[in-house]
Amino acid sequence: MTEVINPSTGEVLTTVPSLGLAETDAAIERAQKAFGKWREVAPGDRARLLRRFAAVVEDHIEELALLEVRNAGHTIGNARWEAGNVRDVLNYYAGAPERLSGRQIPVPGGIDITFHEPLGVVGIIVPWNFPMPIAAWGFGPALAAGNTVVLKPAELTPLTAIRLGELALEAGLPEDVFQVLPGKGSVVGQRFVTHPAVRKVCFTGSTPVGKSIMAGCADQVKRVTLELGGKSANIVFADADLAAAAAAAPGAVFDNAGQDCCARSRLLVEASVYDKFLALLEPAVTQFRVLDPSSEMSEMGPLISSGQRDVVASYVDGADVAFRGSADFKDGWWFPPTVLLAGSADDAHWREEIFGPVVSVLPFRDEAEAIQLANDTEYGLSGSVWTRDVGRALRMSRAVETGALSVNSNSSVRYWTPFGGMKQSGLGRELGPDALLSFTDVKNVFISMGA
Ligand code: NAD
Repeated sequence: MTEVINPSTGEVLTTVPSLGLAETDAAIERAQKAFGKWREVAPGDRARLLRRFAAVVEDHIEELALLEVRNAGHTIGNARWEAGNVRDVLNYYAGAPERLSGRQIPVPGGIDITFHEPLGVVGIIVPWNFPMPIAAWGFGPALAAGNTVVLKPAELTPLTAIRLGELALEAGLPEDVFQVLPGKGSVVGQRFVTHPAVRKVCFTGSTPVGKSIMAGCADQVKRVTLELGGKSANIVFADADLAAAAAAAPGAVFDNAGQDCCARSRLLVEASVYDKFLALLEPAVTQFRVLDPSSEMSEMGPLISSGQRDVVASYVDGADVAFRGSADFKDGWWFPPTVLLAGSADDAHWREEIFGPVVSVLPFRDEAEAIQLANDTEYGLSGSVWTRDVGRALRMSRAVETGALSVNSNSSVRYWTPFGGMKQSGLGRELGPDALLSFTDVKNVFISMGA
C-alpha cells in the first residue's frame, strides 16, 4: 500500500494498493484478451461508448476536481479545467472510430488498400503534475483507435486516475479495456516496457527516465511516445504590448506552482526595455494569489512534495533574487513565486528545469541574440514571442526550436492541436489529428484481379 498525501497540509489522505509484478502481468494479459473483442466493436458503437464515457466524466467534474485539489494541490479553477479537458479529449476522439479511413492506391493488376490497425495493449505512464489531462491524452486516442489500455498513475497522485477507471466501467466500456494500475515506476511502469504484449508505451515525466524507457522499448521495437522536460523561453521584444506581456508572464510560469513542462521559466527581455519591463512585472508577481487551492480566488497552490520543495529551494539559495511573492503557510509544501536575475546563460537556474515557481530573467540585444539564447538548451517543448511586428513574429516562429510556440499568448495546450517536444523534450505528438495515427500501424493489402 502507498500513502497518498495532501500537499497543502502534509496530511495522509488515504492509502492505495501498490501492484506487484504478478498482478501487473495478470492485468496486461486481461487487456490482451479484451483487445480481441474491443477491436471488433463496430466503429459507431465504439464512438458511442467514448461519448458516453465523456458524458459520465462531465457528470463528475466537480468530484474529480475536488479530488485533484486534495491529492495534487491544484487550484480548484485549474482542477475543473483539467477534468473538463478529459471530457473534451474523449469527445474529440469519439469522432475518430468512424473516420479512421485508409487509402486506395492505384496499382497495376489489382486493388491496393491500406488499414490503420490498432497496435494491441498500450501502456500509459503518467507523472504527478497533470494527472488527469496527461492520462486522457493517452487513453482517449488509444481507445478510439481500437487498442486496450493499461495506465499507471504517478505514485503521488493516483486518485483521479483510479476514479476515471471506475467511471469508464460505469459508462459501459467493457471490462479490461481500460485498466488503472497504481504502483511503482520501477515495477508496474517497467513491466509495460518489458512485457511483450504491450505494443506501445506513452511516457510523460523526467528526461532521464524517458531515455531509459526508450532504450528498453528498443529491445522489442516497441512503439514509444515521450513527453519530457522543458525550459521554455518567453521572449519579449521592445515593440510588444509590454503591459500585456508583463501581466501574463507570472501565470506562464507560476501556474500549477511551476510544475509544468511548458512553464515559460526563461524570460528574455530586449535590453532597451529591460528596466521598464521588470517594473511592470514586479506588481504582477507580488500580487499573484498563492492561497489554499480550494479557494476560488487561488492562482497557485503548494508544490507536490517536500522533496520537490527542497529541489526548488536549492536553485534559489545564493541566486540573485529580483523580487518574490508570498506563500505564508505553516504546513504543507509551499514556495513563493520567485523572479531571479540570471548573470549569464551559464547559471544553473537558467539552464536546468526547476519544476517550481521560479523564473530567470536575462536581457538580449537583438533578434539574432534572442534566437541564439532561446535555442541554447537541450530542450524544445514550448515558448512565447511577444511583438507587434508580424514579420518578426513569423521569423521567430520558424527559428525557435520548439514543438509549440505562442505569439502574444502563453498558451500551449489545445486538444485540437498537436502537442509535443523537439530535441530532448520528447518524441511524437499528443492531441489533435496527429495523435490518433500514432496508436495504429499501417497495413497494406493488395488484392489481385486474377488473370
Ligand atoms: P519520473 O520521470 O520519475 O516519473 C514519471 C512517471 O514515470 C511516474 O509514474 C513514475 O512512477 C514512472 N517511472 C519512474 N521510473 C520508471 C521506470 N524506471 N520505468 C517506468 N516508469 C517509471 O518523474 P518524477 O519523479 O515524477 O519527477 C521528477 C522530475 O521530472 C520533475 O522534477 C520534473 O523535472 C520532471 N517531470 C516532467 C514532467 C513533464 O510533464 N514533462 C512531468 C513530471 C515530472
